[in-house]
Amino acid sequence: MAIESDVVVIGGGLAGATAALSAAREGAHVHLISANESTLRQASGLIDARGYPDPDADLDGDRRVSAPGPLVDPFAGIEDLPENHPYRVAGADALREGLALFDDAVGDLYRGGHTDRNALVATTSGRAKPTARYPRSMAPGVVSDERPMLLVGFEAATDFDASLAAERLSAAGVPFDVVGTTIAFPGEYRADAAVTRLAHALERDECVGSAHGENEGQGRTTRQRLADRIRPHLGDAERVGLPAMLGDARVEEVRADLSERLDAPVFEVPTGPPSLPGIRLADRLFAALDEAGVSMTTGMPVVDFESTGGADGDRIDRVIIDRNGAQIPYAAEQFVLATGGLVGKGLDSDRERAREAVFDCYVPQPDDRMQWSKAGAFADHAFARFGVEPDGAMRPLDAEGVPEFENLRAAGGVVGGADVAREQSASGVSLATGLVAGRTAAEEA
Ligand SMILES: Cc1cc2nc3c(=O)[nH]c(=O)nc-3n(C[C@H](O)[C@H](O)[C@H](O)COP(=O)(O)OP(=O)(O)OC[C@H]3O[C@@H](n4cnc5c(N)ncnc54)[C@H](O)[C@@H]3O)c2cc1C
Repeated sequence: MAIESDVVVIGGGLAGATAALSAAREGAHVHLISANESTLRQASGLIDARGYPDPDADLDGDRRVSAPGPLVDPFAGIEDLPENHPYRVAGADALREGLALFDDAVGDLYRGGHTDRNALVATTSGRAKPTARYPRSMAPGVVSDERPMLLVGFEAATDFDASLAAERLSAAGVPFDVVGTTIAFPGEYRADAAVTRLAHALERDECVGSAHGENEGQGRTTRQRLADRIRPHLGDAERVGLPAMLGDARVEEVRADLSERLDAPVFEVPTGPPSLPGIRLADRLFAALDEAGVSMTTGMPVVDFESTGGADGDRIDRVIIDRNGAQIPYAAEQFVLATGGLVGKGLDSDRERAREAVFDCYVPQPDDRMQWSKAGAFADHAFARFGVEPDGAMRPLDAEGVPEFENLRAAGGVVGGADVAREQSASGVSLATGLVAGRTAAEEA
């Protein structure tokens, strides 16, 4: 006997969580199935809605005729995007409503909801990154703030060269003085110590040095020692940026403590994987799903499905998950596919073609594989826009433009039509498409 719900969402990333919350808000009983942890745990924690205009809008042949520049208003010009862009497909209000749903779900963990404008956030590579929402722990680091900044890197965290980041920010013309320095993280850690290990040392405020003579008997803790090491570098700085590893769930406690010790606001600078802000966001979204009454099956993939013919195309009756070799059916009125793109495994590719991995929905693509990519990392690669092509109710269409299944919708990275890396729009696309897919699924369940 299959387990039954109104709506089954496949995928536990930002798009799946948004779709599930959106459907639950409409009163549907929702079950979310997720094979693995999502890309949230690798991502920066920033919620990019649209950082740059259509990357090709200003191209004359291969020549750029005007600087693309970061977008102040992520909503500006959405109506001019190509028709198959997910923002056009999901509808004019979807991004705004998706961001509002996000704000409700994450509460005070995030900032940016007070304005429609992008913020510029300093990154470890010394970029000023345009983003729509940013963790509260990064708030004192926004680039519009003119207070002088000190960036502090750790010898153990080699992907953040604080001096280089400061040089690049200065060269980019930020409206404040910024200097960078690298110090040793307090305590005895291997050079390749896990970021999570250092974060826990700060969260627990572990005693350091006593076993090896450093301040033996004086009860110095990780945070005290860290503040002592940063203080001589403060100079004129009025805010201090550290790699995003200031604890796990108790990041605000760690930040407040360090800020008080340094007499300057301390903030996190978004780092690469594994990302503590991304982990915190994933945890908060799963708590919100729980509160909304969404039931969940995690750690098990959907491996198959059963369908029957319907008036508007085939109808999915149930999906099958694999639990250690046992095949468990999950039945629902409506299904949402939120399995991610090539990274999340929602799309699969071999030498012949790219495929949607669960239902084999149609994925438009050039016949000749040589046309999938162009020379240059930041070129307009066709593969970057790969994904299913949905209608306005987010139902993936076949090559003739007919819904593949009358009760299947898609959201997030599995949806094609946008180069989210060049546009800096990955999270916004997940929020907008997830909102519409969840809502329309619930309406028809
Ligand atoms: C390294 C990295 C950095 C990023 N940085 C940013 C950033 O700075 N700003 C930004 O806005 N966005 C960023 N993103 C993008 C963002 O994290 C998401 O990838 C994007 O929003 C798409 O989300 P998604 O939910 O569609 O897919 P994913 O996050 O890929 O989630 C897909 C989910 O589907 C599940 N799944 C897949 N197949 C199955 C199956 N058969 N059965 C059950 N479950 C399945 C996966 O286990 C996973 O839980 C980054 C992504 C990466 C990889």
